[in-house]
Amino acid sequence: MVMDKPIATYPNSPTSMPSPMPFNIPDVSVRAEAYDQILKNRGIRVIHRRALVCPNVLALDTNSHTPECPNCDNSGFMYYGDREIIGTFNGNSMEKTFEQHGVWEIGTAVMTFPSEYADGTEADFQQFDRLEIPDFTVRLYELLEYLPTADNTQSVRYDIEKVDFMVVTNVGPKLAQRIFNVGVDFNIVNGDIVWVDGKQPNYDASAQRGQVIAVAYYANPIYIVIQSLRELRITQEMDPATGMKVARRMPQEVLVRRDFLVHNVSSLPGPA
Ligand SMILES: [Zn+2]
Repeated sequence: MVMDKPIATYPNSPTSMPSPMPFNIPDVSVRAEAYDQILKNRGIRVIHRRALVCPNVLALDTNSHTPECPNCDNSGFMYYGDREIIGTFNGNSMEKTFEQHGVWEIGTAVMTFPSEYADGTEADFQQFDRLEIPDFTVRLYELLEYLPTADNTQSVRYDIEKVDFMVVTNVGPKLAQRIFNVGVDFNIVNGDIVWVDGKQPNYDASAQRGQVIAVAYYANPIYIVIQSLRELRITQEMDPATGMKVARRMPQEVLVRRDFLVHNVSSLPGPA
């Protein structure tokens, strides 16, 4: 038993006219290359490094990661393969908000990337991948303990571009701040602090403890991929020359978060 087709007629309205819609619809595939071009012409340079779990574990069955691991900064992830790509920020979260993608925590953003790297190879993004913005700096702060080293060099979490302010509190009969100035007390070499001889903070050799330094500095921001928002974003695309349709990857959207909000750190840098 088959259902009858509807045959009821309806009255015309005064504006009724035949539909201009053609019987055959032309192919309306998105031109993926054009979409990539828009992103490439609007975005900023991003250095993408891929995440891999750190193999510095004692045994697989216990999964116990060696404490004080030099390979991964104790985050459990190491990174390989620098690749340059142009990405755009679509939204930056100023406060905790709830949207269709889920919860946006402070310090998260959505970034869109073309389907290919700058060198033309296919780009893919996975959870915990690292994204560094090389052309911009953000202000961060960090506490570190002065440690005398043979080369007078000390590192902070990120490669320092410029120190904004660096200070210790001298404990004595009277509390006093001691401010360190670049070019006088220290220099920045390859992103590290290099103390000028004789200008270092104090070190208590008997207690094996150096003065605690507060440093505000500028460095390139680093983001971690939290989630792929459009996993395997693929469409059909027609080659106008051959009329053949093939599967084509489309630009990708990922949810990112500043890396110190993802990986545990002993001394938290400050807000952006
Ligand atoms: Zn490790």
